[in-house]
Amino acid sequence: MEVLYKSTRSDAEPVSASKAILKGLADDGGLYVPVVIPALDRPVPDFARMNYKETAYEVMKLFLTDYTEEELKDCIDKAYDSKFDTEEIAPLHEADGAYYLELFHGATIAFKDMALSILPHLMITAARKNHEMREIVILTATSGDTGKAALAGFAGVKGTRIMVFYPKDGVSSIQERQMVTQTGDNTCVIGIRGNFDDAQTGVKKIFTDEALRAEMAERGYLFSSANSINIGRLVPQIVYYVYAYSRLLKMGRIREGEKINFVVPTGNFGNILAAYYAMQMGLPVNRLICASNSNKVLYDFFATGRYDRNREFILTCSPSMDILISSNLERLIYHIAGDDAGKNAALMRQLMTDGVYEISDEMKKKLDVFYGGFSGEEATEDAIQSLYMDEGYVIDPHTAVGRRVYDIYRQETQDDAVTVIASTASPFKFESTVLRALGKPVPWVCDGTGNTTAEQDLELAESLSRTAGVPVPEAIASLRGAKVRHTTVCEVSEMEEQVRAFLK
Ligand SMILES: *Cc1c(COP(=O)(O)O)cnc(C)c1O
Repeated sequence: MEVLYKSTRSDAEPVSASKAILKGLADDGGLYVPVVIPALDRPVPDFARMNYKETAYEVMKLFLTDYTEEELKDCIDKAYDSKFDTEEIAPLHEADGAYYLELFHGATIAFKDMALSILPHLMITAARKNHEMREIVILTATSGDTGKAALAGFAGVKGTRIMVFYPKDGVSSIQERQMVTQTGDNTCVIGIRGNFDDAQTGVKKIFTDEALRAEMAERGYLFSSANSINIGRLVPQIVYYVYAYSRLLKMGRIREGEKINFVVPTGNFGNILAAYYAMQMGLPVNRLICASNSNKVLYDFFATGRYDRNREFILTCSPSMDILISSNLERLIYHIAGDDAGKNAALMRQLMTDGVYEISDEMKKKLDVFYGGFSGEEATEDAIQSLYMDEGYVIDPHTAVGRRVYDIYRQETQDDAVTVIASTASPFKFESTVLRALGKPVPWVCDGTGNTTAEQDLELAESLSRTAGVPVPEAIASLRGAKVRHTTVCEVSEMEEQVRAFLK
């Protein structure tokens, strides 16, 4: 059955999967969603016999129906190879009554690698299939991790260029260093004087500027996106939820059909939406636990049905979740509105003009599977520390937000269903925060404002390595002495100008 993709904001003609990936965002500013979410076409226990790549093929083929078997398998082979430091790709680690799904074993040690290792291959295959001769220009806004993962994926890929905008004072020093040392003639990294929401809104604006799009088309460029607004990011993320479930089955930790919880540290709502899609496909899910940091706009939304971005933007020690406009929530809103583009578009207009919208009671009822929670800075550090004390297992601040929210959830509900916590980054990306939480000497402040320098953080790598009992990842070791190649910083209002300059 062919799966087509339509916009969340209008009933314009649906497009093929490859076309949706190529375009990134629909022309009307909406996000592409599958017209129907396909069901798993084999019994879940079958997956227990598959490795990661096989699972990826079985899941992704259901969504990317215009890719041939050969094309899709080729993309998967190129993505999930020795760039990952374990053959399992996404191993499960049991600690303190939960399973941590480690999604940080790729090239840039954050979960963004899970999808961004394959997106460039899906994208150039899509270009070929659609006889697209223009050069693809990937515009990316990042809260810290997407930028590097996208750069690593697209650097040197023929027929593509990539531009990354990051909040100059809103990412960790290591995240910044990873991006600004990126090699490759087709790459460009720019800091903006603003936060992630400013970067994301700026990029979306460039996408939906018809005059600019026409001008660029004429000059031989096609804009696309590596953000999770691209359906080509979401589909590969569904895979590891099926994989995690099947590993638990294989290990005999759950029975066939047993429902489990997933806890997802959330910012742009992409990762947890992938879990929701996995559930819609037939994966047995009990609750989807959405964990926020102090920017708890999603927690408030699940509690009240009211989404309100009018609030202070807080810089935290989990910077990749410092987001007030969670783009992918739009897809969920569309679905719970009964796949109604008109209803969704009206709410999104309200968000744009007033910064707030409220869903109906009927829509709210369809959110039962979700549980929203949040963790403040201190509680997050406590979670890092207590898990280390109890189990000797070191987690990063984003994962710790998930851990903390899971503890609250369990206390509140007494639910003892088997639970998987998405572990979204390696602790080595946030060394000063993690070591400070563990009570180790860190002679400078880390309050999420980038007060530590990359040099200082890199010096801490050895200390963290000894503490955690794991070697310093190559992604960190290779940063020492790496040349800084990107130094441009601009105002939000200058983003379009920067795009023009890069495409000169
Ligand atoms: C991007 C990111 C998140 C948030 O994921 P979303 O899909 O944006 O909700 C959480 N943790 C880390 C480490 C990330 O890089």
